[in-house]
Amino acid sequence: MKVYADLHLHSPFSRATSEKMNPLDLVGFAKIKGLNLLGTGDALHPAWLSQLSLALEEVDGTGLYKARGADENVLFLVEAEVETVHLYEGRVKRIHHVIFMPSLEVAEQLGEALSRYGDLERDGRPTLTIKPSELVETILGVDDRCLVFPAHAWTPWRSIFGSFSGVDSIEECYEDMAKRIYALETGLSSDPAMNWRVSRLDRFTLLSFSDSHSPWPWRLGRECTIFNLSKLSYKELIEAIRTGKVATLEVPPEYGKYHYSGHRECGVGPLSPAEASKLNYRCPVCSKPLTKGVEDRVEELADRPSGFKPEKNMNYVKVLPLHEVISAALKPGGMKSLQSKVVGELYENLVVKLGSEYNVLLHASYEELIQAAPREVAIAIIMVREGRYRIIPGYDGVYGKLELKVVQKGLEGFLD
Ligand SMILES: [Zn+2]
Ligand SMILES: [Zn+2]
Repeated sequence: MKVYADLHLHSPFSRATSEKMNPLDLVGFAKIKGLNLLGTGDALHPAWLSQLSLALEEVDGTGLYKARGADENVLFLVEAEVETVHLYEGRVKRIHHVIFMPSLEVAEQLGEALSRYGDLERDGRPTLTIKPSELVETILGVDDRCLVFPAHAWTPWRSIFGSFSGVDSIEECYEDMAKRIYALETGLSSDPAMNWRVSRLDRFTLLSFSDSHSPWPWRLGRECTIFNLSKLSYKELIEAIRTGKVATLEVPPEYGKYHYSGHRECGVGPLSPAEASKLNYRCPVCSKPLTKGVEDRVEELADRPSGFKPEKNMNYVKVLPLHEVISAALKPGGMKSLQSKVVGELYENLVVKLGSEYNVLLHASYEELIQAAPREVAIAIIMVREGRYRIIPGYDGVYGKLELKVVQKGLEGFLD
């Protein structure tokens, strides 16, 4: 069975998170999107964990949970993100890690073990004063079925390879426990092709999740990992990750908020690696350091040329949130915001008629799309599927902007 999984999410106990990020509401949003497995988010937070214990029940012996009052078409995996703070070569490193756990009971035990390193009640994503190697040792000491991997590996802040407080390799981060790390989350601003340029990452499985703080379809599942399993269980999922048997849906990396460099406060950006390095990574307006783009960080660590494809590479498909595609399609009549009523209505019509957003984006034929949407929207969906678009790259916290290549009257012909 195919499993579309978004396994890095946050609960209302994390900062700036929607109240709708609870299991029962999320089941509804997941179905609209086409997801069938979600992370619980924040499972180490004591109050959230007790809410989860009430809201979820285990699907017998699978290590996965269903929401009480909902069917089993959307399941949950127990998951949390933590930030470690430690000194490395005299400098403070702040790095985020995702943890998968085989049960809510293990989450409780792990919470006890980690509570001596930081206040788990302060934030859904707790900050722990612990070395990453000790973190992994502690987690696997509690239950060796847990999986730990670096979160959004390339973002400038709080990630393993981040330009502000990261390091240059998995080994520098996890030291003697690096051999127990099997995967990394690529984050929105990088895609597998960018990671393939760094040969020392070859042995890691590249995962993609949304890290969403809200359930809206342009956030939840904007990236996800696809599994093909004979039986859906925690054990099978971990085995597929360890052996690299996954595929991912990825937004184009330019869409991510940190793909290029810039300084948002001064309106400087997006700057390509060449432009930013000419400025010595200083803002030309205020001369503070620029927020260095993920593209630049990959370039720094890469030992292979752009476009390199390793022999054993995984599959991935580029997608953009359907709201973005509809909004761009309506652009000639004035760009409509993702939250606008007109975009929402067009979205709903497509998803209701054609099953789920992923089905609309990936599979529905032009003939099906044209039954459910105006011609310009149907054409836009096909154009994005075929890569006929460009994106003004994101930088310093600003999302990239989708631009469809100029559509001329009569262009429908190319679809025949
Ligand atoms: Zn994070
Ligand atoms: Zn500036």
